Amino acid sequence: MRNKIVAGNWKMNKTLEEGKILASEVVNMAADEAPSDVTVIMGTPAIHMDAVGKLVKDAANVAIAAQDCSAHEAGAYTGEISVSQIKSVGAKYVILGHSERREYHNESNELLAAKVDTALAADLKPIFCCGEALETREQGDDVAYKFVCDQLTASLFHLSAEVMTNFIIAYEPIWAIGTGKTASAEQAQLMHAEIRKHIAAKYGQEVADSVSILYGGSCKPSNANEIFAGADVDGGLIGGASLASRDFIDIVK
Ligand code: PGA
Repeated sequence: MRNKIVAGNWKMNKTLEEGKILASEVVNMAADEAPSDVTVIMGTPAIHMDAVGKLVKDAANVAIAAQDCSAHEAGAYTGEISVSQIKSVGAKYVILGHSERREYHNESNELLAAKVDTALAADLKPIFCCGEALETREQGDDVAYKFVCDQLTASLFHLSAEVMTNFIIAYEPIWAIGTGKTASAEQAQLMHAEIRKHIAAKYGQEVADSVSILYGGSCKPSNANEIFAGADVDGGLIGGASLASRDFIDIVK
């Protein structure tokens, strides 16, 4: 069985105090309400990770993620955050390759391959994001499938089958992020199935079946049920709706 995961991506939101309140609400609600087979993750700004790391320390089903990491291990890289720093505040996960990082910080597939390696070497689990822009989708579904599969090939397919086992991928169509426009449940499922097929072609079905593929893009309590019902949809990466504890936990449920 694959791991079911609902990860919040707070992006650049919440002051430290606001973040601590949100995180403790999430921890309390997750303890009472989250299904026992779902891992709940909060992707907080780096500023929050130490405090939120302490809040989730004793929670059985809640963990924290960084939103990015440096490809370098340490040294003269002003403004960057290293994997060992992320680990030192108790984070187990790191979101990599989010479309906002790719677009606003010019992160290439090659750089992301290096970040994946740096994270894995530190035993930090990547939540690796992929997804196509609207112009790509408008060229046809097959063009979108190829674009996304090419992103995965370029940044992940140097990894061993062992490392790919239980890997976490988030499919986030760029046209659905923060736009209120989600992919339909059918569009999400079809893309997730393509991703799994692509992984199976390289690593075999058993490895492909172990990979958790999350959907992200305007996911809300009102549409999560339908989207997560897809056979190849193993949870979600939630932006806007992860900023309110009630909405986030309703998605988890
Ligand atoms: P959204 O963002 O849920 O606000 O659309 C998702 C994401 O970018 O991870």
